[in-house]
Parts: sequence; structure tokens; C-alpha cells
Amino acid sequence: MTKLFAIFGDPVSHSRSPLMHNSLFKALHVNACYTRIHLTEGSKLKETFLNLGLSGANITVPHKEAAYEACDEIRGFAKSIGVVNTIVFEDGKLIGYNTDADGFMEAIKPFGKIKKVLILGAGGTAKALSNRFLQDALHVSILNRSANRLEYFKELGLTCKSWENFICEDYDLVVNTTSAGLKDDAYPAPKEMIEEILSHTSYVADAIYGKVTPFLRLAQDKGITSKDGADMLLYQGVLANHLFCDKKFDLNTTAKIMQKSFAL
Ligand code: NDP
Repeated sequence: MTKLFAIFGDPVSHSRSPLMHNSLFKALHVNACYTRIHLTEGSKLKETFLNLGLSGANITVPHKEAAYEACDEIRGFAKSIGVVNTIVFEDGKLIGYNTDADGFMEAIKPFGKIKKVLILGAGGTAKALSNRFLQDALHVSILNRSANRLEYFKELGLTCKSWENFICEDYDLVVNTTSAGLKDDAYPAPKEMIEEILSHTSYVADAIYGKVTPFLRLAQDKGITSKDGADMLLYQGVLANHLFCDKKFDLNTTAKIMQKSFAL
């Protein structure tokens, strides 16, 4: 029987996940199909998943926390952050995972040894990445527009600042996890602050993919080694597919096939 997978999100029409997973299924002769579901209410996720008879799913903005609630069991890293981006249907249960953070670690491997990171933003992605960085004993700072979202990160023991009280230090890597620049031409912080930050870092990564944000453009103009979110997207998909296919295919093969789909 053909297995059906899907990505849930709002919006979801822009998602590259169907192309990535279907390319893999086609190339490796897996009897499966991957579609996209526009879901407006996160509370309907489980019901929709079960009604469609899905074998697995990915979850994107803004339903990753609702996905955590929808699962019957949570495995691995997702447990510590309460954020799920991958669900696998196993023995009648929804099993939740998070592959975003490990996907990001894979994406920044070419940067070499990173010790000190500044994360711009304090949403779901910042939560996932900060916890993952702490696992590797990195020094992590957070800078967010609003101070009220910093509480979670303070409890993790991180250096947390809003635009009002930020003091720039030296960083190995600065990561933009805000949605500034996604649908507008905004910087993740006032431009002068971003200029200062960029003159104190060796590497830059942006979680946004599919366009060069003003932040990434400025980093490129300054000659800083940088990358957008495409590799993060690629590797979270590789790791999710590994779970969908019961770890049958090795990660390198999966990555090569999925990477090719980006050119389609
Ligand atoms: P959230 O909605 O959870 O968090 C958004 C964050 O962005 C908040 O900290 C918010 O600050 C900040 N923000 C929004 N607009 C602005 C602005 N104009 N200026 C400054 N800060 C702003 O989003 P997620 O963490 O889920 O996603 C963030 C981004 O990462 C999205 O663009 C998403 O597409 C991308 N992403 C990419 C992935 C990939 O695979 N490449 C995977 C996951 C996410 P405040 O608290 O002040 O509102």
C-alpha cells in the first residue's frame, strides 16, 4: 500500500518539503507520496493526521508546539524543548521528534569549530538551537526585539538582551532566527546594531531560505563567510526522511538526492 506523508503549516504553499521527499521516494523506489496540508488550527492536527491515514508528517510555522501536544510519545531532543517538526505513525501512535536543531548542526559543519554564538530572535527556532548548542557546551547569547520572550532563555542561564540593553561581544557565529526579512526588508535589529554585530563575528547563518535577507546581504557585502537556511532545511529533511523510511537509507545518499531536488 502506498504510504502518505505530509507537511502541515500556515502558510504552507511555499514549502520545498514535498519536492525533497518525493524526489527521494522516486529515486529509491519507495512506495510513498508526500503532500502539503494547509492547517489553520493547530488543535486539529492529530484529527487531520489520523483522518488522512498518514504514515508521517513534518510540521512548520506556526504549529510546532501544537504538534508536540498532539503526539502520544516524544523521543530524543524534542523532549527537552517541547517543539516537534517530525511525526512518525508507529503502532497506532503519533511519535514526535525534532530534526531542526541537528539539521542546523550539520549545516554549520563547514564553519569548523564554533565556541561562541549569538542568536538573533527568541522564538521556536531559537529555543531549539540554543538547547542544541548547550548540549555541545557552546557559549550562547540571545538578542531579541521584545524582552518578554527572554525569560525561557534566562532560565537556561544564557546571556539575554533586548534591543534596549544589548552590549556587543566577539562571536564565532551569529544566527538569524527571526522572521525579519522573510516577507519584508527588515533587519533582525536596528541596522547600526547589526553593523556592529557583523564586525564582531567570523561566521553568519540565516534560518530563512529561498531569498537573501537584508541581514545576509549585509554579511555578504562585508565578506563574512555566511549561508542561508537552505542547508538547515535540507538536513532537517534528510533526518526526517531517515525516520520515515525506518533508517533504511544512509544519510549521505538521502542528502545527495534531496539536494538535487533544490534545482528543480
Ligand atoms: P517564531 O514566530 O517562533 O519567532 C519569530 C522571532 O522573530 C521572534 O523572536 C520575533 O521577535 C522575531 N521577529 C519577527 N519579526 C521581527 C522583526 N521585524 N524584527 C526583529 N525581530 C522579529 O518563528 P520560528 O522560530 O518558528 O521561525 C523563525 C524563522 O526561521 C522563520 O523565518 C522560519 O521560516 C525560519 N526557519 C527555517 C528553517 C529551515 O529549515 N531553514 C526551520 C525553522 C524555521 P518578538 O519576540 O519581538 O516578536
